[in-house]
Amino acid sequence: MIPNIARVALPIPLDKTFDYLITPNDLPIVGGRVQVPFGRQRLIGIVTALTDSSEFPIEQLKAIQKVIDKAPLWMPPLFDLLKWASQYYQYPLGDTLANAMPALLRKGREASQTTLKFWALTEAGKSQPLNGLTRAPKQAQILRLLQNGAVSHDALLSEEVSSTTLKTLANKGWIIEQQQQPKSQNWQKQFSVTEEKPRLNEEQALAIATVNSNPEFGCYLLEGVTGSGKTEVYLNLLEPVLAAGKQALILVPEIGLTPQTINRFRRRFNVPLETVHSGLNDSERMAAWLAGRDNQAGIIIGTRSALFTPFANLGIIIVDEEHDASYKQQDSLRYHARDLAVMRANKENIPIILGSATPALETLHNAKMGKYHHLTLTKRAGNAQLARHGVIDVKGLYLNAGLSAPLIAEMRKHLNAGNQVMLFLNRRGFSPAIMCHECGWIAECHRCDAYYTLHQQSGELRCHHCATQRPIMPQCEQCGSTQLLPVGVGTEQLENQLATLFPEFKTVRIDRDSTRRKGALENYLEAIKNNEYQILIGTQMLAKGHHFPNVTLVALIDVDSALFSNDFRASERLAQLFIQVAGRAGRASKPGEVLLQTHHPEHQLLQSLLHKGYGVFSQTALVERQQAMLPPYTHLVLIRAEANDSDTVCQLLQQIRGIFESSPVYDQDCCVLGPNPAPLARRAGRYRWQLILQTPNRKALQQILSVAKPAIQLLPLAKKVRWSIDVEPQDL
Ligand code: ADP
Ligand code: ZN
Ligand code: ZN
Repeated sequence: MIPNIARVALPIPLDKTFDYLITPNDLPIVGGRVQVPFGRQRLIGIVTALTDSSEFPIEQLKAIQKVIDKAPLWMPPLFDLLKWASQYYQYPLGDTLANAMPALLRKGREASQTTLKFWALTEAGKSQPLNGLTRAPKQAQILRLLQNGAVSHDALLSEEVSSTTLKTLANKGWIIEQQQQPKSQNWQKQFSVTEEKPRLNEEQALAIATVNSNPEFGCYLLEGVTGSGKTEVYLNLLEPVLAAGKQALILVPEIGLTPQTINRFRRRFNVPLETVHSGLNDSERMAAWLAGRDNQAGIIIGTRSALFTPFANLGIIIVDEEHDASYKQQDSLRYHARDLAVMRANKENIPIILGSATPALETLHNAKMGKYHHLTLTKRAGNAQLARHGVIDVKGLYLNAGLSAPLIAEMRKHLNAGNQVMLFLNRRGFSPAIMCHECGWIAECHRCDAYYTLHQQSGELRCHHCATQRPIMPQCEQCGSTQLLPVGVGTEQLENQLATLFPEFKTVRIDRDSTRRKGALENYLEAIKNNEYQILIGTQMLAKGHHFPNVTLVALIDVDSALFSNDFRASERLAQLFIQVAGRAGRASKPGEVLLQTHHPEHQLLQSLLHKGYGVFSQTALVERQQAMLPPYTHLVLIRAEANDSDTVCQLLQQIRGIFESSPVYDQDCCVLGPNPAPLARRAGRYRWQLILQTPNRKALQQILSVAKPAIQLLPLAKKVRWSIDVEPQDL
């Protein structure tokens, strides 16, 4: 066959490739970019195949305008992974590939290194004694960072080093600016371990030996509480990999990419390290991508999207805090980076380690089924101790913006002692259950074993299982009280109320919104460390990766909205949050205390969590999931749709439901829930509804979807309504 036609995946929302003619003196390559005419546009796409036949008459095909790459952008393991992800997550291949490229490559920039600004020590800088700079810790930090060779300007900025400090050092003649081809030096040759290693304990040694006994693919769950030495295990696992000249990929949650984390790896090894995260600009992102592909980085640490970095010679993958929700992408290609990382390790035939103090139930299930090896670290390094905990039964108590009097009193005690207090809110459930504040009774569907969900807009209760609707009952069906409240009410006003309750103390709220700006989180964390704020309000993100030695009281003020959420993962998230904060509050000299507010202190999951720990909690929760036919025992697909008119959205989802149910593989084990209003039922004037398809069989699910999607696309309503498919959704 002499190929004269190229199949090209274009970045457009269509599930197909397009055929173009090849010019014989400018041959494209599979996996490389080409520029092609598309309607009136010019698009950059990826060649997925070369062939000599097309379903279209050859004289109708247009020719490729320009071949951009002479080599494929991805080696087969990663290219295959992307193709697989496109299918599995039902996202068009062209868009998937575009998603996995740095923006500059999407725009057609050449896939090779350009020069970057670096900083290096001068002779004078090298001879500076670091301990002479105790009054200029930032300067000392820079000198320390440069001791193993030049570091790029961008990398230094991501270490919380400011341009001004760099200038000061340059003026002193201690450091000098260089334009470098990001050092094309051969790091493998000069690899060394650059700090003293602690003596491993038995469990660490066993974990390391187990992983090292098999250099090929294997997935290892490393379960150990905070401070049990997981990072030390990662470092030890990296050592032989790097020594053999291979690279390492470390994935961390969005909030986990702290200078402390990065520095631990930098201090230990003399290898170039790159970070990949949402704060990078286009050229930084491109540089990291190239550093991986061209073997110019030994270690890449990054958030979710770092998974798509190409590597010349990848030797190991580590996913830290593998249970973290930020690994799931919530729009466009809705992938789960942990799951795809396991798949990538499999295709690359290398080991992967999933680390967590509180593994996801999915991961524990996989370990139980023998798919993953389960390694545990039970001992905590040092003498840190777990915080004490207590439960406040708030039934019938007056709640001031969600705070009970006993909690307020306890807060005052800790604040007056000069300590800090941290309050946790759950991510607010927008459609909560409804509960009696006097006795804790929760309105339940009479036909199903499920709680009613309150839909505030319509003022109705609705069962998401059988779609029964009814008005809110006037009284509690158990005690007759008229104090029926949505679970978790009142917390919106919390911040204002705190200013009134504790005028002499300053409050800061840390969440995704308040920390969106680059560097904002670091500034807050620094201010908290300096005791500029005494009361910290946060969501789950505050619990991760940070130690607050002066926080001696942590309160989870709204446990019920997690226990009775219609998102079945909410209780798992609550448990993970509890373990995380209990492990971090206070320090040896100032032991911490964790308080939980609930109407249901007797709740089985809560009891097992508080008295038996995460291990028993997770086993109990898994049994519940199995009985309720929920993941990981079944697989879900979430279809969301929104439009200006509620009926249209609902109608479309009814039609989609019909398409699912008419699939030949749809049997009595499958079920469809909905259409139901989405948790945020109305956003920016648009009505949002959802439909959930559930089956115990992953293959059946994929079969149903692959037939259903083109059928849905043909529906006239599907063109009027914005809709999306989320395979294995994380938030319901
Ligand atoms: P994790 O990642 O599980 O939170 P780390 O690896 O960060 O735990 O370890 C917690 C602390 O204990 C760190 O300061 C680390 O240097 C130290 N540490 C870890 N393993 C050992 C060990 N075997 N001996 C002494 N100290 C250790
Ligand atoms: Zn029902
Ligand atoms: Zn009641």
